[in-house]
Amino acid sequence: MRIPLIALLSGVLASMLFAGTAVAGVTEQSGPVPTGNRALTDNPIYKTGKLEFKQCAEQPVKPDDLDSSRVYLEFLMDCLDRSWQDQFTKAKLPFSKPRLETISRIGRSTGCGKFPEGAQALYCPANKKITFLLSPAILSQSTELFLFQVMAHEYGHHVQQLSGIMGTVDGRKYKNVKAFLPELRKIELQAECLSGAFIGSVWQSLGRRQSDFTYVLNAAYDTASHGKAANIAYWLKRGFDQEGPGACDTFSAPKSKVA
Ligand SMILES: [Zn+2]
Repeated sequence: MRIPLIALLSGVLASMLFAGTAVAGVTEQSGPVPTGNRALTDNPIYKTGKLEFKQCAEQPVKPDDLDSSRVYLEFLMDCLDRSWQDQFTKAKLPFSKPRLETISRIGRSTGCGKFPEGAQALYCPANKKITFLLSPAILSQSTELFLFQVMAHEYGHHVQQLSGIMGTVDGRKYKNVKAFLPELRKIELQAECLSGAFIGSVWQSLGRRQSDFTYVLNAAYDTASHGKAANIAYWLKRGFDQEGPGACDTFSAPKSKVA
């Protein structure tokens, strides 16, 4: 019996409202990173076609084993770096690698405040660091596609940061969290799609069954910050099928698809 994780999707909410975007953008490279509406709906990264990096063999991972999961994520990070670096070159946008820190309990400092309860992983735009919680819950299912999917999602936020998307959607412009949610959902659903694009592009090299991906699709559940389960699955699948960021313009999508 497969039991979906309670906290599968990760939170960028805290980072964007409390620390992230205040510094995001200011520290960016001198390259022509788009801003404003162009960053959201006409981003050069959307026009880079399919991700071309195809070989990302997964490292062996054991259930309930912290060390093998850590190594697994580090290898995966290397694949993500190589894949997305090519895409940024095609888009003529500056690229830099994010950092990765794995933690075993909540409350650790991330650069965007303390790691919040309920999140599986967090990307902090201020220091471009992915903090990944290797909790007993996720370690118990480490052979499933969850580690892979969540990591690719967090990397999606890094892609948004480098391409000017994260800096354009500024949480500080909104009077409270509720007012910000519609824009936040576009960010989160886009990260899902970018995650799907990467998974789809390397799928053949994983040697997994289609049901492994379906299991992750079906594990989505409604949240105010990430949207309805059906939409989460829609964007993840859309990215997976099209294998590139061109599938992922949530900012031009009909409202019903980003609810
Ligand atoms: Zn996220």
